[in-house]
Amino acid sequence: MKLEKIEIPEIFKRNTPPGFKVVTRDEHDYLAIEAIFCRHGHSLLVSSVQIHGEPSIKIDVTIENTRGVLFIDSFWGSHSKLFSFFPGFIDNHALVEASCPFCGVSMMEPYTCDIEGCNSDTGIVFYLPGEHNRVHVCAKLNCPSHQLEIIDIPNDLVKAISHINFFGEGTDDLFGDF
Ligand SMILES: [Zn+2]
Ligand SMILES: [Zn+2]
Repeated sequence: MKLEKIEIPEIFKRNTPPGFKVVTRDEHDYLAIEAIFCRHGHSLLVSSVQIHGEPSIKIDVTIENTRGVLFIDSFWGSHSKLFSFFPGFIDNHALVEASCPFCGVSMMEPYTCDIEGCNSDTGIVFYLPGEHNRVHVCAKLNCPSHQLEIIDIPNDLVKAISHINFFGEGTDDLFGDF
C-alpha cells in the first residue's frame, strides 16, 4: 500500500479542520485523522495497529455474517484497510455493518451514495471533535463515497477536502504487506 501524493490546499495546512492534522512523509504533506469518535465519544484511533506509520481507525464489523475487526487508514483519501479475517470470499460490494469496538453502539445511518452504480442507502457515521462535525461514508465495501460535514469552515472548503479521494486503494488481511 503505497501513499500517493495529493496536493493539500494551503489553507488546510495553516488551519487544519477539527480532527485532522498534517503529516509529512518524504517531504510531502498529507491530511490525516487525528481524532475520531463513535456517537458515544469513544476514540476509535488505535496505535496498536498502524497503517503508513500512523494509528488506524478501529471499528467492529459484520460483513455477510462474518464478524470481525476492521482497521482503516487514517490518511485522508486513502482507502487502505486491514481485516482481522480473510476478506477474500466476501462480495466486493457487500454491506459493512459497523459498530463501536468499545461500547457496541451501531454506527449505521441512512445515506444516499453519490457513486454511479452503487445505489447504497446506508452509511457509516464517524464523529469529529465539535458538536456538529462528522464524516459520513458509504457502507458498501470498497465504495469510495464519503461526505465531510464540518460546521465551522465554509462549505466550499469542506467540499474541497471531501473531494480528496481515490488513493492507496487496497485491501489486505492483517498479515498483508503494508
Ligand atoms: Zn463507543
Ligand atoms: Zn456507495
